Amino acid sequence: MPDLKTADAVVDDGADDIIYPTTIPFLLVHLACIGMLWTGVTPEILLVAFVLYVVRMFGVTAGYHRYFSHRTYRTSRIGQFLLAFLAQSSAQRGAIWWAAQHRAHHKYSDTPQDVHSPRHRGFLYAHVGWIFSRRESKADLSLVSDLTRYPELVWLNKYHLVPAFVLAIGVTLIWGWAGLFGGFFLSTSLLYHGTFMINSVAHVSGKQRYLTGDDSRNNWLLALITLGEGWHNNHHYYQTSTRQGFRWWEIDISYYTLRLLSIPRLVTELRSPPADVVHAQRPVSQGVLERVAHQLAESFPLEAIADRVGQAWWESRAALELSGKGAGRRLGQLQDSLAEFARQELPTLDELRTRARSMFAEGPHLEQVVERGRQVILERLSRSVLDRQPGVSLA
Ligand SMILES: [Zn+2]
Ligand SMILES: [Zn+2]
Repeated sequence: MPDLKTADAVVDDGADDIIYPTTIPFLLVHLACIGMLWTGVTPEILLVAFVLYVVRMFGVTAGYHRYFSHRTYRTSRIGQFLLAFLAQSSAQRGAIWWAAQHRAHHKYSDTPQDVHSPRHRGFLYAHVGWIFSRRESKADLSLVSDLTRYPELVWLNKYHLVPAFVLAIGVTLIWGWAGLFGGFFLSTSLLYHGTFMINSVAHVSGKQRYLTGDDSRNNWLLALITLGEGWHNNHHYYQTSTRQGFRWWEIDISYYTLRLLSIPRLVTELRSPPADVVHAQRPVSQGVLERVAHQLAESFPLEAIADRVGQAWWESRAALELSGKGAGRRLGQLQDSLAEFARQELPTLDELRTRARSMFAEGPHLEQVVERGRQVILERLSRSVLDRQPGVSLA
């Protein structure tokens, strides 16, 4: 088995220097498109580019994403290798590397640890900047031990450009230089940006049907461009489904293709979301509830409220009474007392409800979010008010 330490998936020191050898092919593919000016473009070559885009986008979504990253269906060992080969002909690095990065994305979606979150590093960084960062480009192999068991996948992950070279040579032999520049390089560039739009656009633009605690969205245009990946909020909500368009009108070409491939049993055990998932009837996890409640609380100007309330509160009778209780003082009492004192300044439950409806997906979980959001506001306010009176600490 090839040494994983030398595999592309591990980078030695985590230095944050921009540009390193692995990104050179990415830059060259873009530059090479200029060659079309010299070779010319014919309708036939554009058709080649289109077909190469569609077939390889299927490799990206059905291979890299729905198979290797999420294992949403099964195939034979040969089928698995062919999927990795097809996916890697898009020159988006090894299937093992891709899956590790993607699993990390779901683990930390839109938190500061997310590899590519528009919320924290901006749109351009989420789209393309992150692949130039050496630190972000190293993959955590502990997340993909189910894939590193296969020596042939590890080999392909190490020599990740082999499939792209094979395709480029094949295209050149059949259609000449025009095939290479207009067919291979153009479609590979478009494929990069089609894929990367899921990391950037699908976390910024579109609708959120489900409460996921992250910024993932459903975007029909993106779903067409990416053969179904644009139903990204669906996918973040229920990742184990092969099918990402949950409703019949949510076009998901990768899923339809996989259904066809399942007739001769080339792939098996495709998964669809259960009805209670589609209708958002499942209870929201504690982790998601916490993240969403904090988002809701932070949408109000908590520091400004603390500024207005803090000084007056410490000078009030309520504060005196609470200080008089000595060791019996509790954060909870402070919160109750503050809630009463600052009633005029705090958002009402109705205001919280309206805000939550404008920020998140509608559903039975919103009332929980509103209640927890109000608690979070009181907790934050109590801490801010305490910070304005140094030397006082509550248990
Ligand atoms: Zn995913
Ligand atoms: Zn995402």
